[in-house]
Amino acid sequence: MAITYIDQVEAEDYKGKVIIVRFDFNVPLAKDGSGKITDTTRIDRTLETINYLLEQEPKKLILMSHLGRPKGQVNKSFSLEPVAVYLSEVLERDVTLSETCLDSGIKTLLSLKDNDIILLENVRFHAEETDNDSNFAEALASYADYYVLDAFGTAHRKHASTYGIMNFFPRSHCLAGFLMKKEIEALTKIVEKPGKPFVSIVGGAKVSDKIKIIEKLMISSDKLLIGGAMAYPFLKALGREIGKSLCADEDVQLAKAILSKDSGKKIELPIDHLASKSFGGPKEVVQDAAIPADLMGLDIGEKTISNYQNIIKSAKTVLWNGPMGLFENSDYAVGTLSIARTLAELDAFTVIGGGDSVSAVVQSGLADKMSHVSTGGGASLEFLENGTLPAIKALRFGIN
Ligand code: AMP
Repeated sequence: MAITYIDQVEAEDYKGKVIIVRFDFNVPLAKDGSGKITDTTRIDRTLETINYLLEQEPKKLILMSHLGRPKGQVNKSFSLEPVAVYLSEVLERDVTLSETCLDSGIKTLLSLKDNDIILLENVRFHAEETDNDSNFAEALASYADYYVLDAFGTAHRKHASTYGIMNFFPRSHCLAGFLMKKEIEALTKIVEKPGKPFVSIVGGAKVSDKIKIIEKLMISSDKLLIGGAMAYPFLKALGREIGKSLCADEDVQLAKAILSKDSGKKIELPIDHLASKSFGGPKEVVQDAAIPADLMGLDIGEKTISNYQNIIKSAKTVLWNGPMGLFENSDYAVGTLSIARTLAELDAFTVIGGGDSVSAVVQSGLADKMSHVSTGGGASLEFLENGTLPAIKALRFGIN
């Protein structure tokens, strides 16, 4: 069954109705407690949906999201207030933040005829959200006539506001927004028919989180380039010295199992490194795949970069998830930025599959040079693995 997108509903049907939209406004905030949003990308990518819905002249638009992990408790450091302030600036209209998402004042606000937007306070101030509590979902649903899901980054979670809430609307009133549409289209292309050659680049540190996706990508990709801390369990599995590099024993076993299936020799590993005696300490060049005992690998080296660039240059489709090194430290960002620049110059379908590689691409100002930059880390990995997500399934088929 097809998903109904917000532009498939007649304008007449929206008129005078209340629309509640679940976004993923889980933006990074400055660590100094000032409440300053350090990267507004996740909000900016929702503006198309918000503006479109406002043009339909609904009675009210209600926005909801989580922010961080307040663990079911009201905690002002996870308040959506900075999001309300930012939204009212960019939309040039009032955005009223409710006290809580169950605040009795919300019904009063809904009866007012003014044209402001209501932003519900962090849904995760209530444990019922992550518990997918039915009463909580029903209370959120009771505000509105239409439910819109545009929170791709959270669509892999069966939570009350992303999933259970759909039980309380007719199927035809459960819609997906434009961000969902872009994410689904781009990632489906990667899953179903990537243009060949298809090169996947996987980095970062969470090997066990990415192991299933590596197995999957090994089938569909022509080449699989591995970097970041992800590389060390693979090197160790091949019997190479990795010194003090980040590496869990169980990941070495997982890497061994993957390598044993790589009959097509698709996996490429670093052949040199930037390393240091301490985490983030002064850098030393390691000219070999093996890392001396007193050093830890923190970035891919020059020869690896050039090998990876040569492979990428022939690609028609590239998927990238996870940085090539400790890129938060500029000494160890060379590998990640070099890969980002190579992708930016490529005439190919390039997808940045969420997480820290997205931050790297955004920070280097190259995001708009990519075909698609996903807003979901875990969600995009899960989509690539299963070809769908629980909340997307619910939009298509309802909740059984
Ligand atoms: P992930 O969330 O799995 O994509 O991992 C991203 C994190 O991995 C970033 O914070 C990187 O700094 C870190 N990382 C990447 N390469 C290394 C490395 N060689 N050693 C330690 N941390 C790394």
